[in-house]
Amino acid sequence: MEERQIFTDKDIWRVITLYGLNTSTYKIALAETLNSLVRQGITNASYEILAQEFFKLYNKRLDNGMPQLNHDTRYTKMEQIVTRFKGGAVDYDEAIAYVKNNAFDNVIPRFHNLNQFDLPQKFYEITKGGIVLTDSVFNVFNDNESEALHNELEARWSLLESAFAMKRENAKLINDIKRFYLVRGYERTDITYMRDMLNGYQEGRCFYCGEMLDQNHIHVDHVIPRTVLNHDEPWNLALAHEYCNEHKNDALPSRYYVQKLVDRNERLISSNHPLSKKIIEALGITPLKRKTETFRIYDEILAAFGAKNIWGGENFKPENDPFYRSMIRYIVKR
Ligand SMILES: [Zn+2]
Repeated sequence: MEERQIFTDKDIWRVITLYGLNTSTYKIALAETLNSLVRQGITNASYEILAQEFFKLYNKRLDNGMPQLNHDTRYTKMEQIVTRFKGGAVDYDEAIAYVKNNAFDNVIPRFHNLNQFDLPQKFYEITKGGIVLTDSVFNVFNDNESEALHNELEARWSLLESAFAMKRENAKLINDIKRFYLVRGYERTDITYMRDMLNGYQEGRCFYCGEMLDQNHIHVDHVIPRTVLNHDEPWNLALAHEYCNEHKNDALPSRYYVQKLVDRNERLISSNHPLSKKIIEALGITPLKRKTETFRIYDEILAAFGAKNIWGGENFKPENDPFYRSMIRYIVKR
């Protein structure tokens, strides 16, 4: 497996734009804005300039009618102001003033943040009146890769829009299945004791990426999201990095990880682990019954959620992704 220790500016750029936790499309729009500023040779960008760039992007983008926020019913400030502008309720100057005052509060301070991790390279410094671009962002775009990176951002932007749209369309179906499990579920329990119970069965490694866990920051993850199942049964719990856990969020993992979970549970049972009894009670008395039941639950939820709600897509295995793994090693070491 390829070993990469040092992250170049371009690596960090990709970490931000491809692996960030996006609840809206703002980070991608800011990345496009930076790309545009570099092309124009602008180093010092006031909030006025940023607002103009941002507005231009969204004004064009929103012709596609796609949602920009990971929410069933709410809309971003950019969607709101562009809609008002297009409807003639505000003029251009009013729209720019609105963007200047409302769009940047979160995205500008948090652009270099991957969850709670502050990334080392900064593509701009924040000043009182705006931002100053650093050499790093010029390095990213310096070798005629501007077009390729632009296409990467476009693809990521479209992907987020489809995921958000899917969430809206499937809201009813998803709510039905959530209600079904809610009736059978229970309130959150304390599952921190699971860290010690499961640690030995993962050889100190993250269930998802396979990199060593930082023993002080182990997260107990619900492999099939708790937001659906509403229970903390051990058969569905695994240990993961904080980042992997939060990046996966409430999505379903790919099938590969369901099989991995089945295998893990069988290892627990065959070693007469204290949790064996609970797992057998929940899933069945034979290995085949347990496997069938695990996949039945997964498939039932998948049918309601749709394949688009699989974390990273059906074939996503961070375990086999050298870039993902080196990113995690980098984060955990610090
Ligand atoms: Zn991990």
